[in-house]
Amino acid sequence: MKRFNCLCCGECCSGDIDIFINHYDLYKMAKHLQMTGTKELFDKKFVELKEGQNNVFLPKIHFKTYPYKFCPFLINDPDENNILKSYCSIHPQTKPLVCKLAPISREYDTETGRTQYFYTRLADSCLGNHDCDDIDVQEVISPFLKEIKYEEIFFQTLDWIIKSRITDYSDELYYFPVSCGYDDIILNNSLFRQQILIT
Ligand code: SF4
Ligand code: SF4
Repeated sequence: MKRFNCLCCGECCSGDIDIFINHYDLYKMAKHLQMTGTKELFDKKFVELKEGQNNVFLPKIHFKTYPYKFCPFLINDPDENNILKSYCSIHPQTKPLVCKLAPISREYDTETGRTQYFYTRLADSCLGNHDCDDIDVQEVISPFLKEIKYEEIFFQTLDWIIKSRITDYSDELYYFPVSCGYDDIILNNSLFRQQILIT
C-alpha cells in the first residue's frame, strides 16, 4: 500500500484556492481558538462565506493576501537543517476535514447517501509523493468517520435548505455558540432538526 508523503512546502495551503469547510469544522476551530461562538471566526476574518454550487453559501477559510495569498493557519519555520518548512498550526485535530483527508477527496451524493473517494493532486507544484493509485482509502478515512458523518448531515441539511427554497439561513446555520457539545448544537438548530427528523 502506498502512503502520501507531504514535504511541508505549503503550496496547497496558499495561492488561488478555495478551502471550503463544513459546519463541524466551524465548531472545532472556534473551540480551539477559545472563542465563545463561531461568529467570531467570521468577524476576525478566519472564515468567510462564498456562494458555491446551487447558489448555496458555504464557509471557506479566508486567506490572508499579504505578502501573498495563504491560509491564516499556515506557519513557516526552519527545520533542523535550517530549511524553511510550512506547517499547519491547527494540525492534527482542528484542521478542516478536507485537509485531514487530503490527498483523498470525497464526493457525497445526498440522494443516494453514497460517497465516492478519489485521489486528487493537491497543487501542480506539490513535491509530495504522487504515486498513490493504490492508496488505501479506508485507512485514510477510518480515523474520521464521525466527522464524515457530521459532514454528511451538513450536506443533507444544505440540500434540504435548497429544496425548501429557504434563502435567509446563513446566520442561523453558521453562527452558533460552542459552549456545549456538537450533537446538542445540531439537535437544537431548527434547520438541522428538520434534516435529522427526515433522515
Ligand atoms: S487549515 Fe492547515 S492544512 Fe488546511 S489549508 Fe490551512 S494551513 Fe493548510
Ligand atoms: S503541496 Fe504537497 S508537499 Fe507541499 S504541503 Fe501540500 S501536500 Fe505537502
